[in-house]
Amino acid sequence: MSDLSYVNEHSDAWQTYLAQIDRVAPYLEHLADYIDTLKRPKRALIVDVPIVMDDGSIQHFEGYRVQHNLSRGPGKGGVRYHPNVDLNEVMALSAWMTIKTAVLNLPFGGAKGGIRVDPRKLSTRELERLTRRYTTEIGHIIGPQKDIPAPDVGTNANIMGWMMDTYSTSQGHTVTGVVTGKPVHLGGSLGRVKATGRGVFVTGREVAAKINLPIEGAKVAIQGFGNVGSEAAFLFVGSKAKVTHVQDHTGTIFNADGIDLEALRDHVNANQGVGGFAGAQSIADEDFWTAEVDIIVPAALEGQITVERAQKLKAKLILEGANGPTYPKAEDVLVERGIVVVPDVVCNAGGVTVSYFEWVQDMASYFWSEEEINERLDKLMVQAMEDVWNTANSNACTLRTAAYILACERILKARKERGIFPG
Ligand code: NAD
Repeated sequence: MSDLSYVNEHSDAWQTYLAQIDRVAPYLEHLADYIDTLKRPKRALIVDVPIVMDDGSIQHFEGYRVQHNLSRGPGKGGVRYHPNVDLNEVMALSAWMTIKTAVLNLPFGGAKGGIRVDPRKLSTRELERLTRRYTTEIGHIIGPQKDIPAPDVGTNANIMGWMMDTYSTSQGHTVTGVVTGKPVHLGGSLGRVKATGRGVFVTGREVAAKINLPIEGAKVAIQGFGNVGSEAAFLFVGSKAKVTHVQDHTGTIFNADGIDLEALRDHVNANQGVGGFAGAQSIADEDFWTAEVDIIVPAALEGQITVERAQKLKAKLILEGANGPTYPKAEDVLVERGIVVVPDVVCNAGGVTVSYFEWVQDMASYFWSEEEINERLDKLMVQAMEDVWNTANSNACTLRTAAYILACERILKARKERGIFPG
Protein backbone atom coordinates (compact mmCIF):
# COMPACT_ATOMS: atom_id res chain seq x y z
CA MET A 1 0.00 0.00 0.00
CA SER A 2 1.08 3.52 -0.70
CA ASP A 3 1.35 5.92 2.24
CA LEU A 4 -0.64 8.55 0.37
CA SER A 5 -3.55 8.87 2.75
CA TYR A 6 -5.49 11.17 0.43
CA VAL A 7 -5.89 8.49 -2.22
CA ASN A 8 -9.53 7.58 -2.73
CA GLU A 9 -9.95 4.01 -1.47
CA HIS A 10 -12.85 3.29 -3.78
CA SER A 11 -10.94 3.64 -6.99
CA ASP A 12 -8.07 1.33 -7.84
CA ALA A 13 -6.25 2.80 -10.85
CA TRP A 14 -3.44 4.16 -8.68
CA GLN A 15 -3.13 0.81 -6.87
CA THR A 16 -2.89 -0.95 -10.25
CA TYR A 17 -0.09 1.41 -11.23
CA LEU A 18 1.73 0.80 -7.91
CA ALA A 19 1.48 -2.96 -8.46
CA GLN A 20 3.02 -2.53 -11.92
CA ILE A 21 5.92 -0.57 -10.43
CA ASP A 22 6.47 -3.20 -7.72
CA ARG A 23 6.64 -5.87 -10.43
CA VAL A 24 9.42 -4.01 -12.25
CA ALA A 25 11.53 -3.17 -9.18
CA PRO A 26 13.43 -6.51 -9.08
CA TYR A 27 14.80 -5.82 -12.56
CA LEU A 28 16.20 -2.38 -11.72
CA GLU A 29 19.23 -3.35 -9.60
CA HIS A 30 20.77 -0.30 -7.82
CA LEU A 31 18.26 2.07 -9.44
CA ALA A 32 15.55 0.41 -7.32
CA ASP A 33 16.90 2.57 -4.44
CA TYR A 34 15.15 5.49 -6.14
CA ILE A 35 11.88 3.71 -6.94
CA ASP A 36 9.87 5.56 -4.28
CA THR A 37 10.17 8.59 -6.58
CA LEU A 38 7.70 6.84 -8.88
CA LYS A 39 5.30 5.86 -6.08
CA ARG A 40 4.03 9.37 -5.43
CA PRO A 41 3.19 12.32 -7.65
CA LYS A 42 5.60 15.24 -7.54
CA ARG A 43 2.73 17.69 -7.38
CA ALA A 44 -1.07 17.34 -7.24
CA LEU A 45 -3.36 20.35 -7.50
CA ILE A 46 -7.09 20.29 -6.78
CA VAL A 47 -8.99 23.35 -7.96
CA ASP A 48 -12.50 24.67 -7.55
CA VAL A 49 -13.92 25.72 -10.92
CA PRO A 50 -17.01 27.90 -10.42
CA ILE A 51 -18.87 29.04 -13.54
CA VAL A 52 -21.98 31.04 -14.31
CA MET A 53 -24.39 28.76 -16.16
CA ASP A 54 -26.50 30.01 -19.08
CA ASP A 55 -29.52 30.33 -16.77
CA GLY A 56 -27.60 32.67 -14.45
CA SER A 57 -27.02 30.11 -11.65
CA ILE A 58 -23.53 29.32 -10.35
CA GLN A 59 -22.14 25.77 -10.41
CA HIS A 60 -18.89 24.51 -8.92
CA PHE A 61 -16.84 21.73 -10.56
CA GLU A 62 -13.78 19.99 -9.15
CA GLY A 63 -10.68 20.09 -11.34
CA TYR A 64 -7.22 18.53 -11.05
CA ARG A 65 -3.75 18.76 -12.53
CA VAL A 66 -1.22 16.19 -11.36
CA GLN A 67 2.47 16.28 -12.30
CA HIS A 68 3.65 12.80 -11.53
CA ASN A 69 7.29 13.10 -12.51
CA LEU A 70 9.35 15.91 -14.07
CA SER A 71 12.82 14.33 -13.84
CA ARG A 72 13.25 14.16 -17.64
CA GLY A 73 11.50 17.37 -18.69
CA PRO A 74 8.20 19.27 -18.53
CA GLY A 75 5.02 17.39 -17.68
CA LYS A 76 2.97 16.06 -20.60
CA GLY A 77 -0.52 14.62 -20.54
CA GLY A 78 -4.13 15.16 -21.44
CA VAL A 79 -7.11 16.83 -19.79
CA ARG A 80 -10.16 14.62 -19.24
CA TYR A 81 -13.74 15.91 -18.86
CA HIS A 82 -15.78 13.02 -17.46
CA PRO A 83 -18.21 12.45 -14.56
CA ASN A 84 -15.92 9.77 -13.03
CA VAL A 85 -12.75 11.87 -12.86
CA ASP A 86 -11.19 11.85 -9.39
CA LEU A 87 -7.74 12.42 -7.90
CA ASN A 88 -6.91 8.72 -7.86
CA GLU A 89 -7.62 8.32 -11.56
CA VAL A 90 -5.74 11.47 -12.54
CA MET A 91 -2.73 10.36 -10.46
CA ALA A 92 -2.66 6.98 -12.21
CA LEU A 93 -3.09 8.50 -15.66
CA SER A 94 -0.29 10.98 -14.96
CA ALA A 95 2.00 8.15 -13.85
CA TRP A 96 1.26 6.17 -17.03
CA MET A 97 2.26 9.28 -19.01
CA THR A 98 5.59 9.29 -17.14
CA ILE A 99 6.13 5.72 -18.33
CA LYS A 100 4.92 6.38 -21.90
CA THR A 101 7.10 9.46 -22.53
CA ALA A 102 10.12 7.60 -21.12
CA VAL A 103 9.57 4.48 -23.26
CA LEU A 104 9.57 6.71 -26.36
CA ASN A 105 12.55 8.61 -24.91
CA LEU A 106 10.69 11.93 -25.33
CA PRO A 107 12.15 14.75 -23.19
CA PHE A 108 9.03 14.98 -21.03
CA GLY A 109 7.76 13.81 -17.68
CA GLY A 110 4.20 12.68 -16.99
CA ALA A 111 1.16 14.75 -16.05
CA LYS A 112 -2.61 14.61 -16.41
CA GLY A 113 -5.57 16.79 -15.60
CA GLY A 114 -9.30 16.67 -15.55
CA ILE A 115 -12.60 18.04 -14.38
CA ARG A 116 -15.40 15.96 -12.87
CA VAL A 117 -18.13 16.99 -15.31
CA ASP A 118 -20.31 15.53 -18.02
CA PRO A 119 -19.37 17.83 -20.93
CA ARG A 120 -22.40 16.71 -22.96
CA LYS A 121 -24.63 18.41 -20.39
CA LEU A 122 -23.00 21.82 -20.90
CA SER A 123 -23.68 24.31 -23.69
CA THR A 124 -20.73 25.43 -25.83
CA ARG A 125 -20.58 28.74 -23.91
CA GLU A 126 -20.61 26.92 -20.55
CA LEU A 127 -17.87 24.58 -21.78
CA GLU A 128 -15.78 27.56 -22.82
CA ARG A 129 -16.27 29.28 -19.43
CA LEU A 130 -15.38 26.03 -17.63
CA THR A 131 -12.22 25.59 -19.71
CA ARG A 132 -11.07 29.18 -19.31
CA ARG A 133 -11.60 29.19 -15.52
CA TYR A 134 -9.88 25.79 -15.14
CA THR A 135 -6.93 27.02 -17.22
CA THR A 136 -6.64 30.09 -15.00
CA GLU A 137 -6.76 27.98 -11.82
CA ILE A 138 -3.98 25.64 -13.00
CA GLY A 139 -2.20 28.47 -14.89
CA HIS A 140 0.67 28.85 -12.41
CA ILE A 141 1.85 25.25 -12.81
CA ILE A 142 1.46 24.84 -16.60
CA GLY A 143 3.56 26.38 -19.38
CA PRO A 144 5.66 25.29 -22.34
CA GLN A 145 8.64 24.59 -20.06
CA LYS A 146 6.59 23.36 -17.08
CA ASP A 147 3.68 21.18 -18.12
CA ILE A 148 1.91 20.90 -21.48
CA PRO A 149 -1.73 19.68 -21.48
CA ALA A 150 -3.42 17.98 -24.49
CA PRO A 151 -6.86 16.54 -25.33
CA ASP A 152 -8.13 13.34 -23.70
CA VAL A 153 -11.58 11.79 -23.20
CA GLY A 154 -14.24 14.53 -23.41
CA THR A 155 -11.89 17.27 -24.66
CA ASN A 156 -10.81 18.23 -28.18
CA ALA A 157 -8.87 20.64 -30.37
CA ASN A 158 -11.35 23.50 -29.77
CA ILE A 159 -10.93 23.18 -26.00
CA MET A 160 -7.13 23.26 -26.48
CA GLY A 161 -7.59 26.47 -28.50
CA TRP A 162 -9.44 28.08 -25.54
CA MET A 163 -6.76 26.87 -23.12
CA MET A 164 -4.03 28.34 -25.32
CA ASP A 165 -5.89 31.64 -25.61
CA THR A 166 -6.56 31.90 -21.85
CA TYR A 167 -2.96 31.13 -20.91
CA SER A 168 -1.68 33.55 -23.58
CA THR A 169 -3.92 36.32 -22.22
CA SER A 170 -2.38 35.86 -18.77
CA GLN A 171 1.14 36.08 -20.25
CA GLY A 172 0.43 39.09 -22.48
CA HIS A 173 1.57 37.32 -25.65
CA THR A 174 0.64 34.27 -27.72
CA VAL A 175 2.10 31.08 -26.26
CA THR A 176 1.25 28.29 -28.70
CA GLY A 177 3.51 25.74 -26.96
CA VAL A 178 1.47 25.63 -23.73
CA VAL A 179 -0.86 22.90 -25.06
CA THR A 180 -0.78 20.39 -27.92
CA GLY A 181 -3.58 18.91 -29.98
CA LYS A 182 -4.61 22.41 -31.06
CA PRO A 183 -6.30 23.23 -34.38
CA VAL A 184 -3.63 23.32 -37.12
CA HIS A 185 -4.13 27.05 -37.82
CA LEU A 186 -3.42 27.80 -34.11
CA GLY A 187 -0.05 26.03 -34.08
CA GLY A 188 -1.31 22.45 -34.14
CA SER A 189 0.59 19.77 -36.03
CA LEU A 190 -0.33 17.98 -39.22
CA GLY A 191 -0.59 14.23 -38.70
CA ARG A 192 -1.68 14.48 -35.02
CA VAL A 193 -5.17 13.02 -35.50
CA LYS A 194 -3.90 9.91 -37.29
CA ALA A 195 -0.71 9.52 -35.23
CA THR A 196 -1.93 7.01 -32.64
CA GLY A 197 -3.40 4.64 -35.24
CA ARG A 198 -0.24 4.97 -37.27
CA GLY A 199 1.88 4.04 -34.23
CA VAL A 200 -0.33 1.00 -33.60
CA PHE A 201 0.30 -0.18 -37.15
CA VAL A 202 4.04 0.52 -37.07
CA THR A 203 4.66 -1.25 -33.75
CA GLY A 204 2.43 -4.13 -34.91
CA ARG A 205 4.31 -4.46 -38.20
CA GLU A 206 7.66 -4.54 -36.37
CA VAL A 207 6.60 -7.21 -33.88
CA ALA A 208 4.82 -9.26 -36.57
CA ALA A 209 8.12 -9.45 -38.48
CA LYS A 210 9.90 -10.69 -35.35
CA ILE A 211 7.37 -13.48 -34.73
CA ASN A 212 7.32 -14.45 -38.43
CA LEU A 213 3.76 -13.32 -39.00
CA PRO A 214 3.50 -11.83 -42.51
CA ILE A 215 1.27 -8.74 -42.66
CA GLU A 216 0.44 -9.49 -46.29
CA GLY A 217 -2.59 -11.77 -46.16
CA ALA A 218 -2.94 -11.49 -42.35
CA LYS A 219 -6.49 -11.33 -41.00
CA VAL A 220 -7.15 -8.47 -38.58
CA ALA A 221 -10.01 -7.75 -36.14
CA ILE A 222 -10.43 -4.19 -34.87
CA GLN A 223 -12.45 -3.09 -31.84
CA GLY A 224 -13.29 0.60 -32.19
CA PHE A 225 -13.54 2.42 -35.51
CA GLY A 226 -12.73 5.89 -34.14
CA ASN A 227 -9.51 7.87 -34.53
CA VAL A 228 -7.21 5.06 -33.49
CA GLY A 229 -8.94 1.94 -34.83
CA SER A 230 -9.87 3.32 -38.26
CA GLU A 231 -6.40 4.67 -39.06
CA ALA A 232 -4.76 1.39 -37.97
CA ALA A 233 -7.30 -0.52 -40.12
CA PHE A 234 -6.52 1.56 -43.24
CA LEU A 235 -2.77 1.09 -42.78
CA PHE A 236 -3.12 -2.69 -42.37
CA VAL A 237 -5.17 -2.90 -45.55
CA GLY A 238 -2.61 -0.64 -47.27
CA SER A 239 -0.05 -3.36 -46.49
CA LYS A 240 -2.30 -6.06 -47.98
CA ALA A 241 -3.74 -7.41 -44.74
CA LYS A 242 -7.51 -8.08 -44.58
CA VAL A 243 -9.70 -6.47 -41.92
CA THR A 244 -12.36 -9.16 -41.49
CA HIS A 245 -14.00 -8.04 -38.20
CA VAL A 246 -14.87 -4.61 -36.82
CA GLN A 247 -16.70 -3.97 -33.56
CA ASP A 248 -17.92 -0.71 -32.10
CA HIS A 249 -20.61 0.41 -29.65
CA THR A 250 -23.30 -0.26 -32.30
CA GLY A 251 -22.39 -3.86 -33.13
CA THR A 252 -19.93 -6.32 -34.66
CA ILE A 253 -19.50 -6.93 -38.39
CA PHE A 254 -17.70 -9.63 -40.36
CA ASN A 255 -16.69 -10.17 -43.97
CA ALA A 256 -14.38 -13.12 -44.76
CA ASP A 257 -13.10 -11.39 -47.92
CA GLY A 258 -12.13 -8.27 -46.01
CA ILE A 259 -14.30 -5.24 -45.22
CA ASP A 260 -14.28 -2.30 -47.67
CA LEU A 261 -13.02 0.38 -45.29
CA GLU A 262 -13.84 3.41 -47.45
CA ALA A 263 -17.46 2.26 -47.65
CA LEU A 264 -17.45 1.51 -43.90
CA ARG A 265 -16.10 5.00 -43.12
CA ASP A 266 -18.90 6.59 -45.16
CA HIS A 267 -21.44 4.39 -43.34
CA VAL A 268 -20.03 5.32 -39.91
CA ASN A 269 -20.03 9.03 -40.76
CA ALA A 270 -23.67 8.80 -41.81
CA ASN A 271 -24.89 6.45 -39.06
CA GLN A 272 -22.53 7.06 -36.10
CA GLY A 273 -21.50 3.41 -35.98
CA VAL A 274 -20.73 0.22 -37.91
CA GLY A 275 -24.12 -1.38 -37.10
CA GLY A 276 -26.25 -1.97 -40.20
CA PHE A 277 -23.31 -1.79 -42.67
CA ALA A 278 -24.47 -3.51 -45.85
CA GLY A 279 -21.00 -4.71 -46.92
CA ALA A 280 -20.64 -7.23 -44.09
CA GLN A 281 -22.72 -9.56 -41.98
CA SER A 282 -23.70 -8.73 -38.44
CA ILE A 283 -22.47 -11.21 -35.79
CA ALA A 284 -22.87 -11.53 -32.01
CA ASP A 285 -20.58 -9.16 -30.08
CA GLU A 286 -18.99 -11.98 -28.08
CA ASP A 287 -17.99 -13.78 -31.31
CA PHE A 288 -15.51 -10.97 -31.94
CA TRP A 289 -13.26 -12.57 -29.29
CA THR A 290 -13.21 -15.99 -30.96
CA ALA A 291 -12.61 -14.61 -34.46
CA GLU A 292 -10.30 -16.69 -36.70
CA VAL A 293 -7.80 -13.87 -37.14
CA ASP A 294 -4.06 -13.33 -36.78
CA ILE A 295 -4.14 -9.91 -35.15
CA ILE A 296 -6.60 -8.26 -32.75
CA VAL A 297 -6.49 -4.50 -32.16
CA PRO A 298 -8.52 -3.41 -29.11
CA ALA A 299 -8.84 0.32 -29.85
CA ALA A 300 -11.95 1.31 -27.93
CA LEU A 301 -12.05 0.85 -24.17
CA GLU A 302 -10.11 -0.35 -21.17
CA GLY A 303 -10.79 -3.78 -19.58
CA GLN A 304 -11.80 -5.70 -22.73
CA ILE A 305 -9.57 -8.80 -22.60
CA THR A 306 -10.72 -10.77 -19.58
CA VAL A 307 -9.36 -14.15 -18.47
CA GLU A 308 -12.31 -15.85 -20.16
CA ARG A 309 -11.73 -14.10 -23.48
CA ALA A 310 -7.96 -14.66 -23.23
CA GLN A 311 -8.62 -18.40 -23.02
CA LYS A 312 -10.54 -18.41 -26.31
CA LEU A 313 -8.67 -15.88 -28.45
CA LYS A 314 -7.32 -17.34 -31.70
CA ALA A 315 -5.08 -14.41 -32.68
CA LYS A 316 -1.29 -14.59 -32.40
CA LEU A 317 -0.75 -10.88 -31.80
CA ILE A 318 -2.62 -8.25 -29.78
CA LEU A 319 -1.97 -4.56 -30.37
CA GLU A 320 -3.19 -2.38 -27.49
CA GLY A 321 -4.48 0.73 -29.26
CA ALA A 322 -6.65 1.60 -26.23
CA ASN A 323 -5.20 2.26 -22.78
CA GLY A 324 -5.40 -0.74 -20.45
CA PRO A 325 -7.56 -3.10 -22.58
CA THR A 326 -6.01 -6.26 -21.06
CA TYR A 327 -6.48 -7.32 -17.42
CA PRO A 328 -3.19 -8.41 -15.77
CA LYS A 329 -4.56 -11.93 -15.05
CA ALA A 330 -5.72 -12.23 -18.68
CA GLU A 331 -2.23 -11.31 -19.83
CA ASP A 332 -0.84 -14.21 -17.77
CA VAL A 333 -3.17 -16.52 -19.76
CA LEU A 334 -2.05 -14.99 -23.05
CA VAL A 335 1.61 -15.44 -22.11
CA GLU A 336 0.97 -19.11 -21.28
CA ARG A 337 -0.75 -19.55 -24.65
CA GLY A 338 2.14 -17.90 -26.53
CA ILE A 339 0.05 -14.92 -27.69
CA VAL A 340 2.16 -11.77 -27.95
CA VAL A 341 0.83 -8.48 -26.56
CA VAL A 342 2.26 -5.13 -27.68
CA PRO A 343 1.49 -3.01 -24.58
CA ASP A 344 -0.35 0.33 -24.65
CA VAL A 345 2.61 2.32 -23.29
CA VAL A 346 4.45 1.77 -26.57
CA CYS A 347 1.69 0.67 -28.99
CA ASN A 348 -0.49 3.79 -28.63
CA ALA A 349 2.34 6.27 -27.98
CA GLY A 350 2.16 7.69 -31.53
CA GLY A 351 -0.19 10.43 -30.32
CA VAL A 352 2.09 11.76 -27.59
CA THR A 353 5.03 11.50 -29.99
CA VAL A 354 3.37 13.82 -32.52
CA SER A 355 2.33 16.04 -29.58
CA TYR A 356 6.06 16.30 -28.89
CA PHE A 357 6.60 17.26 -32.55
CA GLU A 358 3.84 19.89 -32.20
CA TRP A 359 5.60 21.40 -29.18
CA VAL A 360 8.96 21.39 -31.01
CA GLN A 361 7.36 23.10 -34.05
CA ASP A 362 5.69 25.70 -31.79
CA MET A 363 9.02 26.41 -30.03
CA ALA A 364 10.74 26.91 -33.38
CA SER A 365 7.73 28.60 -35.08
CA TYR A 366 8.61 26.42 -38.05
CA PHE A 367 6.17 23.79 -39.26
CA TRP A 368 6.85 20.49 -40.96
CA SER A 369 4.98 18.71 -43.75
CA GLU A 370 2.82 15.69 -42.92
CA GLU A 371 5.31 13.54 -44.79
CA GLU A 372 8.19 14.72 -42.55
CA ILE A 373 6.06 14.16 -39.45
CA ASN A 374 5.14 10.61 -40.43
CA GLU A 375 8.73 9.82 -41.30
CA ARG A 376 9.97 11.04 -37.91
CA LEU A 377 7.10 9.29 -36.11
CA ASP A 378 7.85 5.97 -37.80
CA LYS A 379 11.53 6.29 -36.91
CA LEU A 380 10.85 6.90 -33.19
CA MET A 381 8.18 4.17 -32.99
CA VAL A 382 10.44 1.61 -34.70
CA GLN A 383 13.32 2.49 -32.36
CA ALA A 384 11.12 2.29 -29.25
CA MET A 385 9.69 -1.07 -30.31
CA GLU A 386 13.20 -2.40 -31.00
CA ASP A 387 14.40 -1.22 -27.56
CA VAL A 388 11.41 -2.86 -25.86
CA TRP A 389 11.85 -6.10 -27.83
CA ASN A 390 15.57 -6.31 -26.96
CA THR A 391 14.91 -5.53 -23.29
CA ALA A 392 12.28 -8.32 -23.19
CA ASN A 393 14.76 -10.76 -24.70
CA SER A 394 17.59 -9.89 -22.36
CA ASN A 395 15.37 -10.12 -19.27
CA ALA A 396 13.22 -13.05 -20.47
CA CYS A 397 10.06 -11.06 -19.70
CA THR A 398 6.93 -9.81 -21.47
CA LEU A 399 6.97 -6.74 -23.71
CA ARG A 400 4.95 -4.88 -21.05
CA THR A 401 7.46 -5.58 -18.29
CA ALA A 402 10.25 -4.70 -20.72
CA ALA A 403 8.63 -1.35 -21.53
CA TYR A 404 8.37 -0.58 -17.81
CA ILE A 405 12.01 -1.62 -17.22
CA LEU A 406 13.20 0.64 -20.01
CA ALA A 407 11.10 3.58 -18.82
CA CYS A 408 11.97 3.19 -15.13
CA GLU A 409 15.68 2.91 -15.93
CA ARG A 410 15.57 6.17 -17.91
CA ILE A 411 13.55 8.05 -15.27
CA LEU A 412 15.48 6.78 -12.25
CA LYS A 413 18.85 7.36 -13.91
CA ALA A 414 17.80 10.99 -14.45
CA ARG A 415 16.65 11.18 -10.82
CA LYS A 416 19.94 9.75 -9.57
CA GLU A 417 22.12 12.00 -11.73
CA ARG A 418 20.18 15.14 -10.80
CA GLY A 419 20.57 14.27 -7.09
CA ILE A 420 18.22 15.02 -4.24
CA PHE A 421 17.95 18.71 -3.34
CA PRO A 422 19.19 19.82 -0.86
CA GLY A 423 22.00 17.27 -0.72
P1 NAD B 1 -12.88 7.56 -30.51
O1 NAD B 1 -13.86 8.18 -29.61
O2 NAD B 1 -12.51 8.23 -31.79
O3 NAD B 1 -13.36 6.06 -30.90
C1 NAD B 1 -13.78 5.16 -29.94
C2 NAD B 1 -14.34 3.93 -30.64
O4 NAD B 1 -14.67 2.97 -29.63
C3 NAD B 1 -15.63 4.21 -31.42
O5 NAD B 1 -15.59 3.50 -32.64
C4 NAD B 1 -16.69 3.64 -30.50
O6 NAD B 1 -17.85 3.20 -31.21
C5 NAD B 1 -15.97 2.45 -29.91
N1 NAD B 1 -16.63 1.97 -28.69
C6 NAD B 1 -17.15 2.70 -27.68
N2 NAD B 1 -17.76 1.88 -26.80
C7 NAD B 1 -17.62 0.64 -27.26
C8 NAD B 1 -18.04 -0.65 -26.80
N3 NAD B 1 -18.73 -0.77 -25.67
N4 NAD B 1 -17.70 -1.74 -27.53
C9 NAD B 1 -17.01 -1.63 -28.68
N5 NAD B 1 -16.59 -0.45 -29.16
C10 NAD B 1 -16.89 0.67 -28.46
O7 NAD B 1 -11.59 7.29 -29.59
P2 NAD B 1 -10.09 7.10 -30.06
O8 NAD B 1 -9.41 8.43 -30.06
O9 NAD B 1 -10.04 6.23 -31.27
O10 NAD B 1 -9.50 6.30 -28.80
C11 NAD B 1 -9.72 4.90 -28.64
C12 NAD B 1 -8.92 4.41 -27.45
O11 NAD B 1 -7.53 4.70 -27.66
C13 NAD B 1 -9.28 5.04 -26.12
O12 NAD B 1 -9.12 4.06 -25.12
C14 NAD B 1 -8.21 6.11 -25.92
O13 NAD B 1 -7.98 6.40 -24.55
C15 NAD B 1 -7.01 5.41 -26.54
N6 NAD B 1 -5.97 6.32 -26.98
C16 NAD B 1 -6.26 7.29 -27.89
C17 NAD B 1 -5.24 8.14 -28.30
C18 NAD B 1 -5.50 9.20 -29.34
O14 NAD B 1 -4.54 9.88 -29.74
N7 NAD B 1 -6.70 9.34 -29.86
C19 NAD B 1 -3.95 8.03 -27.76
C20 NAD B 1 -3.69 7.01 -26.84
C21 NAD B 1 -4.72 6.16 -26.45
